Amino acid sequence: MAELLAGHGYRITGPRRAVIDAVVGRARPFTAEQIVAELKRVAPELGRATVYRTLEILASVDVLSRFLRADGHPAYIVGVPGHRHHLVCSDCGTVVAFTRCPVDDLVRDLSRDTDFAIQGHLLEVFGVCPECRDEPPAIAPS
Ligand SMILES: [Zn+2]
Ligand SMILES: [Zn+2]
Repeated sequence: MAELLAGHGYRITGPRRAVIDAVVGRARPFTAEQIVAELKRVAPELGRATVYRTLEILASVDVLSRFLRADGHPAYIVGVPGHRHHLVCSDCGTVVAFTRCPVDDLVRDLSRDTDFAIQGHLLEVFGVCPECRDEPPAIAPS
C-alpha cells in the first residue's frame, strides 16, 4: 500500500504510515472516525485531519474504495480497484462491491442530450444482508 502511494508521488511520512498500517488488510468497512479513535490509543500525536487526508489519498489511488452508508455517512473498504459500486447492508454495514455498471447507457444518453462532459457518477444500493435477515426477533423484556 505504501509503495503504491510512493509510486503516485506521495511522501510516506510517519503519520501516513501509521494510517496505512491501521487500514491494511481490513476485511470490514470502516469510517475515518473509527481509525481516528483507534490511532488515538497508539499514536496520540496523530491529528484527525491527517487521518482524513490520508484516507482520501488512499481512495484517490484506488487502494481504498469510498462509499456512502445507508445513513449517508462516508465509509471505506479495502480493495476492489477500478470502477465499482456498492451494495451496503443498512443493519451491519457489510459491503459487497460490484463492477457491473448499469449507468453507462444512461450516462451516454445524458451526455448526448445535454452536451455535458460527464466526469463520474455514484451509485450505492442499500438492503439487509442474509445474516441480518436471519437474526431471530429480539425478545422484548417483560
Ligand atoms: Zn447485515
Ligand atoms: Zn458506474
